[in-house]
Amino acid sequence: MHTFDPDTVALDRSSFIAGSVSPQGTDPIAVYRPSDGRLACEFLEAGQATVDHAVEQAQAALRDSGWATAPPRHRAAVLRRWADLVDAQRGDLARLESLSSSRPITETMTRDLPVVAELLRFYGECADKVAGEVFETAHDVYSLTHHEPYGIVAAISPWNVPLLLATAKFAPALAAGNAVLLKPSELTPFSALRVAALAVEAGLPPGLFSVLIGTGAVTGAALVRHPGIGYVTFTGSTQTGVAVMCDAARYGMKPVSLELGGKSPQLVFGDVPDLDRVADMVAASITRNSGQVCFSGSRLVVQRRIADDLASRVASRLEAVRAGPTWDEATTLPPIISAAQAARIDAIVGRARMSGAQFITGGRVFEQDGASFFEPTLITGVDPGSEILRDEVFGPVLTMQVFDDEEEGFALAGHPLYGLSAGIHTRDIDKALAGARRLEVGTVWINAYGRGDDLVSPFGGFKQSGFGKDFGVAAFHKYRRTKNVWIRTHAARSGGLTT
Ligand code: NDP
Repeated sequence: MHTFDPDTVALDRSSFIAGSVSPQGTDPIAVYRPSDGRLACEFLEAGQATVDHAVEQAQAALRDSGWATAPPRHRAAVLRRWADLVDAQRGDLARLESLSSSRPITETMTRDLPVVAELLRFYGECADKVAGEVFETAHDVYSLTHHEPYGIVAAISPWNVPLLLATAKFAPALAAGNAVLLKPSELTPFSALRVAALAVEAGLPPGLFSVLIGTGAVTGAALVRHPGIGYVTFTGSTQTGVAVMCDAARYGMKPVSLELGGKSPQLVFGDVPDLDRVADMVAASITRNSGQVCFSGSRLVVQRRIADDLASRVASRLEAVRAGPTWDEATTLPPIISAAQAARIDAIVGRARMSGAQFITGGRVFEQDGASFFEPTLITGVDPGSEILRDEVFGPVLTMQVFDDEEEGFALAGHPLYGLSAGIHTRDIDKALAGARRLEVGTVWINAYGRGDDLVSPFGGFKQSGFGKDFGVAAFHKYRRTKNVWIRTHAARSGGLTT
C-alpha cells in the first residue's frame, strides 16, 4: 500500500550547505505540487553569495578531509553506508519525490529509490576497483596513467526523474574523489535535500556535497560561471545546454557533459512475431511519466502492412490509462509538471491539428482536481519537417509515420537534430544490427525499449542530444582527469625518454 496523504509529508525548506540547512538566500521561490496545484513551500533562492559560500565550504572540506587522496576503499565504504540509509528511508524519500514531481508513488517506491541506492553502491565499487594503466615501452622505462578528480563538480539536474538523474551525477563524481554542488530543478528540490542529509549521516565529510535551491538563471548560472568549479555536468533541454556550454567555455574553459533532449523513433517492421508485445512497449514508452522522459519513443515509424493493426492496439492502450495524483498508487497517467508546460504541449498539438494532422486518439489537455493532464495522443498524417516531428514535446504525444521498404524506414527513423535513442522491432537480427549501426543515436534497443534497472551500460546522446555519458563505468571515468607519468629507472640504458 503506497498511497499517501501529501499533507502529512514533512519538508526541508532551505538549501543544504556544509552539512546543515542554510537559511541563506535572496528572493523567495514557490514550489507547487503538480498533482493538485497547491503550494508546497517557499525557499529563499541561493544567489551569488550563497554559491560563493558553498564553493568555499567545498574547498575547505576537500582540503581538510583528504577525500580525494584517502584510500579509495574509504570512499567506497561511505557510499555503501549511504545506500543502506537510502534503503532504510525509501518510503520517506519516495513520498518526498512524488510530492513535487510527476513521478507516481508506485514508480518512486519500486524503481527510482531502489535505483538510487544501487547507483551509490555501483559507484562505490568503482572507487577502489577501476584501475589505471601501465603502457608497453622500453623495458627500463615505465609509462603509466593515474586519475585525479577535478575538484568541485557542479551538477545541474531536471525535474522529470529528479533524484535518480541527480544521483547518476553526484554518485560517480563523489566516488571519483570530487566534491559536488548540486542544483536540482527548483520545481523538485525535496528528495535531494533529504538525501544530502543522509550523506553526512553516512560519514561523508560535511561540505563535500551541498544542494543549492534556486532557478537556473540565478543559481545554475552562478555555479557554472564560478571560478572554483572544475567540471560541469548537466541534464536538461538542448536550449539550456547551449547556454551552459557557452558559459563554461567563457568562464574558465571548464569541461562539460550534457545530457539533453531527444525525439526518439520506434521503428517497427512487419515481421514482428508478437504485435501485442510491441504495442505494450510503444504505449508504455510514451505514457510513462506522461511522456516527460528524455528517451520517450515519441515517433512511431511502422511498416505499412501492420500499421493499422498496430495503431489500433496502441490506441487502446493509450486510452486505458488512469489519470490521477502522484500520491495515488492506482495512477498510471501522472500530471504534467505545470499548467504552463501543459499549455505548451497543447499549443504544439494544436498547430499540428491546424496543419492537417489526423488524431487516432487523444489530443486534449484537461484539468482534474487542480492538476493539468494531457490525454495520451496518437497522431498520423503529419508532414515531414513539421514541428511535431522535429521538436521534443515532452508530453504523451506519439506521431505515426508509415513506410514500405527497409530503406525508407531507416530514413524516417533518423532525425536531423537529435540522436538520443531508438527502438528497432523485427525478428530479423541482421536487419536490426545493421540498423543499430546506421542510426546516429547514443542508445539502440532491439525488440525492447527503455533502460531496465541494470546500471552497467552508459547512456547519453549524439548530435544535439548532448555528449558525455551518465550511468555505467563511463560516468565514473568522466569525473576524473587522466595524468600520464613517465618513470625512467636508474638502470636505464635504452635512452627511451627523449623529446
Ligand atoms: P531545463 O533545460 O529547463 O532545465 C534543466 C536544469 O537546468 C534546471 O535545473 C534548470 O533550472 C537549469 N538551468 C536553466 N537555465 C540555466 C542556466 N542558464 N545555467 C545553468 N542552469 C540552468 O530542462 P527541464 O528541467 O525542463 O527538463 C526537461 C529537459 O531535460 C527535456 O528537454 C529532456 O529531454 C531533458 N532531459 C534529458 C535527459 C537525458 O538523459 N538526455 C534526461 C532527462 C531530461 P530551473 O530550476 O530554473 O528549471
